[in-house]
Amino acid sequence: MSDYDFDLFIVGAGSGGVRAARIAGGYGARVAVAEEHRVGGTCVIRGCVPKKLLVYGAHFAEDLDDAAMFGWDVPEKRFDWTVLRDNVMAEVSRLEGLYGETLGNHDVTVFKERAVVTGPNQLRLASGRTVTAGKILIAVGARAALPEIPGIEHAITSNEVFHLERMPRRVVIAGGGYIANEFAGIFHQFGAHVTLVNRSDTILRGYDEQIVDRLVKISVAKGIDMRFNSGFSALEERDDGTILCRMKGCDDIEADVVLFAIGRLPNTDELGLENVGVELTERGAIKVDADYRSTVPSIFAVGDVTDRIQLTPVAIREGQAFADTQFGGKPARVDYGCVPSSVFSHPPIAAVGLTEGQAKNKLGVVRTYTSDFRPMKNVLAGRNERSLYKLVVDDGSDEVVGVHLIGPDAPEIMQAAAVAVKARLKKSDFDATVALHPTMAEELVLMR
Ligand code: NDP
Repeated sequence: MSDYDFDLFIVGAGSGGVRAARIAGGYGARVAVAEEHRVGGTCVIRGCVPKKLLVYGAHFAEDLDDAAMFGWDVPEKRFDWTVLRDNVMAEVSRLEGLYGETLGNHDVTVFKERAVVTGPNQLRLASGRTVTAGKILIAVGARAALPEIPGIEHAITSNEVFHLERMPRRVVIAGGGYIANEFAGIFHQFGAHVTLVNRSDTILRGYDEQIVDRLVKISVAKGIDMRFNSGFSALEERDDGTILCRMKGCDDIEADVVLFAIGRLPNTDELGLENVGVELTERGAIKVDADYRSTVPSIFAVGDVTDRIQLTPVAIREGQAFADTQFGGKPARVDYGCVPSSVFSHPPIAAVGLTEGQAKNKLGVVRTYTSDFRPMKNVLAGRNERSLYKLVVDDGSDEVVGVHLIGPDAPEIMQAAAVAVKARLKKSDFDATVALHPTMAEELVLMR
């Protein structure tokens, strides 16, 4: 038994922190976690989970329209934002409770307050109490970035978007990444007029260009306004509560809600890290080695605060690898290759592996296969929305190095396809697999 109060003290009870806590606790370590907001972190409280529930809710707008062609007589559809909002928040609270129970079941001590690092093995809690620990894990995640423009206090971020009092009529969204495109779809389906403002002419950088082009076409056809090469110079609130966006690169825009989604910055401000010698990057991320160790040997970091791949499943794997290595005697590192990802836009995008451009740069000669089709359900519904599937294949080895999809259920389909890419299966393996008919996913094995 060491002289420290705890073997492990974790700052932040989000995806990475909770996983590390329960695994280390399971190995018999004396673990404590400090969380200043709610147990569950960004993913559970104000990210993936409530967002996905809104995406489900939003989809009914189209499903109810399409139902008529399938013989259903749907009376006039009406949407009540407050019902969905409150149900989603209740589900978030339920999950928060489960996360808390998990920590309790693993004998993890939870401090519901802020902790700052005051030494290589010491922290100070907001209550004034000082605690010591053999190892400290920083898993505080990231926060929405905001530009310094006049009136920025009138904008909201993804923190506030789940709590809106009423559904706005006009929404302006800054950014062209995950959150911007997901909420453009959500608000549009709920009947708001959406304008998405992007600083360049490329949205969703990092995704395959053909797939992104398809999303832009579908979004614009649905009625989402997209302003490219544009930015905000100021936000002015009017007496009636509406916001006038003073723009650069396009005309000024009036809005009821302005949502900024221009990336997320590591949450390292005023955590005391620099004072004890923890080095940060220019963006404020904690620099870690392959075992998540910072420049102070007893202090580690996992998840978004390291600003590498800002995805929940990655943070979870990092928390697990950290705990296995440091407390389980089972050295483990995360394999960052072939991490699948999805944008839950309308329709969603999903990808794994290399884009065509990345593959050309890395491998030289590549083959691509595409299937551009209208899903059977859309055909009967009279919905003129086409899906696009694309395989990127290394010409030399025949390995499928990238799969890129846009269309209904693309993320559900991608998880299985990601196994194939991770396993380095060849295009001939895809060809040899019998199609599962009639599905959309069968296109994956029918591209010639
Ligand atoms: P993203 O990194 O996805 O996108 C940021 C967008 O904002 C880009 O279009 C970027 O443009 C633009 N941008 C960056 N800086 C500025 C600036 N100073 N002024 C104007 N525009 C700017 O960020 P999000 O906020 O959408 O999401 C944050 C992270 O959260 C994501 O990276 C992702 O890892 C995670 N996330 C994942 C989801 C999922 O898995 N489905 C869902 C939501 C979030 P440019 O391309 O020119 O840099």
